[in-house]
This record gives sequence, structure tokens and C-alpha cells, in this order.
Amino acid sequence: MPGSMFAPKRIRELSYTLENYSPVWGDCIDGKFCDLGDIVLPWGNIDKSLKFIDEVVKGPISAGKKIVGIGGDHLVTLPIVECYAEKYKDLAVVQFDAHTDLRDEWSSEKNSHATVLRRVYEVISKGNKGGKGNLYQFGIRSGSKEEFDFAEKYCHLYKYDVYEPLKSVVGSLKGKNVYLTIDIDVLDPAFAPGTGYIEAGGITSKELFDAVSLLLKETNVVGADVVEVCPPTDNSDRTSAIEAKLVR
Ligand code: MN
Ligand code: MN
Repeated sequence: MPGSMFAPKRIRELSYTLENYSPVWGDCIDGKFCDLGDIVLPWGNIDKSLKFIDEVVKGPISAGKKIVGIGGDHLVTLPIVECYAEKYKDLAVVQFDAHTDLRDEWSSEKNSHATVLRRVYEVISKGNKGGKGNLYQFGIRSGSKEEFDFAEKYCHLYKYDVYEPLKSVVGSLKGKNVYLTIDIDVLDPAFAPGTGYIEAGGITSKELFDAVSLLLKETNVVGADVVEVCPPTDNSDRTSAIEAKLVR
């Protein structure tokens, strides 16, 4: 279902109702961030879109800033991770998603929402000599047999749940630089109906917030993105509202 291009605007609008104070962190967010605004992408031109994102995020990332990207299609993760992987050689990527996104090609395209984590895996695995790499996937409940076979060999894939498996491996992420990508369809459609590919059997929003807090407290998260909210199918704005709070 198309429409994720409308998400950043709607997420900003819904963020205006949120408090600046976080009871989880005991701190206010004021003055500690800046909104770089939307990157206007050439509709339908994938290569140019990736290049435009790269041009905007490269400077801040190489200067040590933390980027929170707001999608958009999940493919927006790729150019951001490429910049982080250049800056941090040991980068680990943590993905919360219903889908593996590990296809090598989708509709004859190498770059798409269905292949993005395969490309990310390749970027962060340069120089790896086989074995499991630095990609950690949680909440996964959909994908082809080939994708699950690939993950079995090369990734750390955890099915269905997010918080409990994360708790069991977060220790091994300590000392690494971590990039977090959250595909909102990791949530059950009851919580997040407004997304491109609805997949039943997901987690609650409480579990997602607990998992994000755990990761932020226990590891060095250098950047993140939240993707795949689709406002045109988002009854009562509930999906955008969750994503606004996630960004906050
Ligand atoms: Mn997904
Ligand atoms: Mn995805």
C-alpha cells in the first residue's frame, strides 16, 4: 500500500501534543535536537533518492551527530547505514520488523523495502570471513524460505518477540556502536494498522517501547530510523502517534 511519503509530515504534527519531559529518562528533550526537515526525493528515481539522502546525512554523521531518520519506505535505511558504517567500523544493526527484508532482489530490483536489510548486511559485513555477522533481527514473522535460510547462516534472527530475545543478547552488543531501524509493522495491526504490509501476530506498543529503552540504556546507539507508517490507511492516526512518541 503506497503512502509512506506522507508520514514525516503527519508524525511532526502529532508530535506537537507530546510532552518534552520523559518519565522513563527523567529528562527533557528541549534544545538537544534539531529538525533538518524533509529531504525532497525525486519520485520513482531510486538511485537519485538514495544519493539525496546520503548528501544530507553524511556531514552530520561524520561529525559525530546522531541521526533519527523518519521514513518513508524502509529503503531509506540503506544510505544512512552506509554513512554510519564508514564512520564506525564495527557497526551492529538492530532491526525491529515483521519481515526479514533479506531478499536479494524484488521485482527485478536490487534496492527496495524487501531487500534493504540484505544490502545493509552486505555493507556492515565487508571483510567478514563467514559466520554470523552484525545484523540482529527481532519480531520477525514473515519472509520467504530463502530469506530465513540466509538469516539462519549469516544473521541473528529472533522470531515473533522483541523484548525477551533482546534481553538475552543485549550483553553481546555492549561496546559496539549500534544502529537501530524500526519498521512499524513489527507491531500488531491492532496497534499499527497504518502501514504498507500488514502482518498479524505482532507485539504490543508497550513491548516496543520497553525494547527501545533497553537498547538505549544498555548499548551505544549512534543512530536510528523509524519507517513504513502509511497515513492514508492509518485509522485515527494511531500508527503515526506511536511513531511520533518513538522519535521523541
Ligand atoms: Mn516490515
Ligand atoms: Mn521492513
